[in-house]
Amino acid sequence: MKHVLLGDEAIALGAIDAGLSGVYAYPGTPSTEITEFIQLHESKTPTGIFCRWASNEKTAMEAALGMAYMGKRALVCMKHVGMNVCADAFMNAAITGVNGGLVVVAADDPSMHSSQNEQDSRFYAKFAMIPCVEPSNQQEAYTMTQYAFDLSERLKTPVLLRVTTRMAHSRAVVETNDTPRPQNGMSLPQNVQHFILLPAFAKRNYAELVDHQTLFTDESNTSPYNAYTKGTAPERAIITTGIAYNYLMENYSPEEGRSILKITQYPLPLAHIRQLVADGAREILVIEEGQPVVEELLHGLVPSTVTVKGRLTGDLPRMGELTPDSVRAALGLAALETKQSDDLVVARPPALCQGCGHRDVYAALNEVAREYPSPRIFGDIGCYTLGALSPFHALHATVEMGASITMAKGAADAGQHPAIAVIGDSTFTHSGMTGLLDCVNTNANVVVLISDNLTTGMTGGQDSAGTGRIEQICYGLGVAQEHVRVVVPLPKNMEEIKQVLREEIDYNGTSVVIARRECIQTLKRHLKANKK
Ligand code: SF4
Repeated sequence: MKHVLLGDEAIALGAIDAGLSGVYAYPGTPSTEITEFIQLHESKTPTGIFCRWASNEKTAMEAALGMAYMGKRALVCMKHVGMNVCADAFMNAAITGVNGGLVVVAADDPSMHSSQNEQDSRFYAKFAMIPCVEPSNQQEAYTMTQYAFDLSERLKTPVLLRVTTRMAHSRAVVETNDTPRPQNGMSLPQNVQHFILLPAFAKRNYAELVDHQTLFTDESNTSPYNAYTKGTAPERAIITTGIAYNYLMENYSPEEGRSILKITQYPLPLAHIRQLVADGAREILVIEEGQPVVEELLHGLVPSTVTVKGRLTGDLPRMGELTPDSVRAALGLAALETKQSDDLVVARPPALCQGCGHRDVYAALNEVAREYPSPRIFGDIGCYTLGALSPFHALHATVEMGASITMAKGAADAGQHPAIAVIGDSTFTHSGMTGLLDCVNTNANVVVLISDNLTTGMTGGQDSAGTGRIEQICYGLGVAQEHVRVVVPLPKNMEEIKQVLREEIDYNGTSVVIARRECIQTLKRHLKANKK
């Protein structure tokens, strides 16, 4: 059957057709659509698929490992920075190995369209010493997801599936199986000690993982997804990976006769690289999306007489996404004539929606903050990060999920007053709660302002793990009940909100102000659904 699918949707359908039993994820651009697609389609599968959002990427990774422990196939999805959150579980899953198939999807965001960095998740696969696949188009995103599950079950290891924004968010025709595979039944691991990482057992597992590196490389050498073609002018070769292969094919003229190695499975296929050198390569241009992972590794693999070119040498831009023009320039071709979008579309800075409750939160907070000589307001990740921009300019730092509370604590420990954290409800349950516990444990003089819009707004309105229980969570973490205050962020309540903020700033200890009003976008959807 043929479908027109986003790369994310192709991964989702590939996983469903591979006999998926559970997907675990925290929303994050550009990975969110994978889980949403499975949520929409799981009821059409014979036995259903577990597909609720997790509190964060670490809990997602651990739950998926648990499902794979029971012999079933599990998928974990996240944006690239989510890999940092789940790194502990991810690294150790490489040591335990798996029973049922376990595929971890990391969606990288080169050019940082909606992210705070452009880290390349292929480093994580290398770090954990597990196989990584990187589809070059939507068809491969579909077939390689099934392939990754097979690889995972055959080699008893988690497999990382890496995509980037353009692959995740562009559509193409994908031909799919007509007969999806059944899910695995439950089965226990043959050797339970593999999952007990006491040092004595872990050392044995780690030695096995080290031993398996040759096997993993052999798999890459023989992978149907890695392809080496010797050219008629092999002294100038090209190595290209994942979606970058498409950029090359769009711009490359076969008459040039260069040898081309397409890599979509790692560890690096050493046999192909050796062959490329043996065939006479004197110069290798590396075209890869993201950081110069392959380019750096090549320096230790090819003789010093072979020149390696790529992002490190300036032949391609050191940062940001590749473009057809940047690849053309690296190939020595002139740029194609294009129409600049600036002529067609007026640039518009990002802004909070009109009527959004975060606007009222910042309006009140800014007025109160001006009453103190040197306030510091630590922001977090969500729609409300836009409070750093015009017209509010309300934030003095925004680093990563959950950092608002702990950075405010550190600033308060250093003597700062007032130290205020602004965090959303979903980010609070993702990784803010433990920071609040740290505040309570030392009675840090901070105000934690939870802007509770009852959803995960920034990524499109997914469920938020703590909805309806934020006060109870704060009480449970030990915040005094009289210092957990709830306000409704509406213009008519401005005086009340400001007064509550003043009182909690003047309280010498840890307090929480919850500003609760539903995201306008999810409210509209809920009202529309209720009318039907
Ligand atoms: S999506 Fe919702 S939370 Fe985000 S800016 Fe719009 S109204 Fe506010």
